[in-house]
Amino acid sequence: MTRAPHLTSRLQGFGTTIFAEMSALAQATGAVNLGQGFPDSSGPPEVLETARRAVGTAHDQYPPGPGLPELRAAVARHHRRFSGLDFDPDGEVLVTAGATEAITAALLALLEPGDEVVLLEPMYDSYAAAVAMAGGTVRAVPLRAPAPAAGEVTRGRWTFDPAELRRAVTPRTRLLLLNSPHNPTGAVLDDAELAELAAVATHAGLLVLTDEVYEHLVFDGARHRSIATLPGMRERTLVVSSAGKTFSVTGWKIGWVCGPAPLVSAVRTAKQFLTFVNGGPFQPAVAVGLDLPDAFFAELAADLQRRRDVLVEGLHAAGLPVVVPQATYFATVDVRPVRADGDGVAFCRELPHRAGVVGIPVGPFYDPADAHLGRHLVRFAFCKRDEVLAEAVERLRRAG
Ligand code: PMP
Ligand code: GLN
Repeated sequence: MTRAPHLTSRLQGFGTTIFAEMSALAQATGAVNLGQGFPDSSGPPEVLETARRAVGTAHDQYPPGPGLPELRAAVARHHRRFSGLDFDPDGEVLVTAGATEAITAALLALLEPGDEVVLLEPMYDSYAAAVAMAGGTVRAVPLRAPAPAAGEVTRGRWTFDPAELRRAVTPRTRLLLLNSPHNPTGAVLDDAELAELAAVATHAGLLVLTDEVYEHLVFDGARHRSIATLPGMRERTLVVSSAGKTFSVTGWKIGWVCGPAPLVSAVRTAKQFLTFVNGGPFQPAVAVGLDLPDAFFAELAADLQRRRDVLVEGLHAAGLPVVVPQATYFATVDVRPVRADGDGVAFCRELPHRAGVVGIPVGPFYDPADAHLGRHLVRFAFCKRDEVLAEAVERLRRAG
């Protein structure tokens, strides 16, 4: 690997994110962008209107460090309604610049140099970079894909091997970093997997950081459950979420982290020197969103499930074996039937020219040592308008 000049050794190898690279390629080629996961339609009008009304008021100035009180109260109410967890808005809820800052601040606050973080891979790309910035080391446990036969639609689930999980934990392990519903596989950890993870965390005395930004984007009656709801877990767990996916406002970067006061207080210490606060006018708007009726959240999932089916059917018709995701914005395919060398990065760099569609290679979501596990996988986003998905599917079918 060539060394980037000036860049600290901690961040060598991280380069430009794969999302930025592929969105730039979509722009340059005019391809349909099913790469970066962002919706192309607006969020709930009440939420947008509250933000519009907040601009030009006192909300333009710094909100309180832990977040606007009405947003913290709304986060606590939302948790009580959907996860059953009770958090005190004063001390157990911290508003952050998206889930990304919540995760980075937590790792900076909680890790000593040399501490190990166990996580499941493929993993969202910011995790490894944030662990590295905190001076920690990633110990990745692979999720294994259900093996689809060529050209088939697979309803199986990605899962991990409990023995591999246990082997990844060492005396240096400080923290278990989870993401469910999971980007990029679309898997939702089930009760047995959560119990296994909780047993490992309890046995080894680990803290748990759980990224639940796709909490509401769950399909086919699958149920998202936070690991913090398991016995003995609340006191060791930080639960992270954000407004981006739930309210289709990925550019607002309003997130939050909830947990026991001593843990949240540690995260706040790091967070206050990263951004201090952000998104003043968006904070009251997200508070309105979190209090929307159950029907809003149910319709969000049902609508996305319908679009998932359109994309899955289209990928299948294009000869790409696809695992049907239980959740999130993403479906992942195996490119080997259409590309003998199984090189997902090369496939994604060519696809805009060949078919006019952009996807994201999954290889970069793996620890470099395990990159071969995801080399042949490519992720497509279905959080797009019907006509955009239809166009993408038609282009993929034509390109064969
Ligand atoms: N975690 C996961 C799993 C994600 O997919 C994303 C990206 N949308 C984030 C965190 C980042 O969330 P935010 O934009 O709120 O920082
Ligand atoms: N979370 C989004 C995704 O996985 C992208 C976020 C980003 O561009 N960093 O596509």
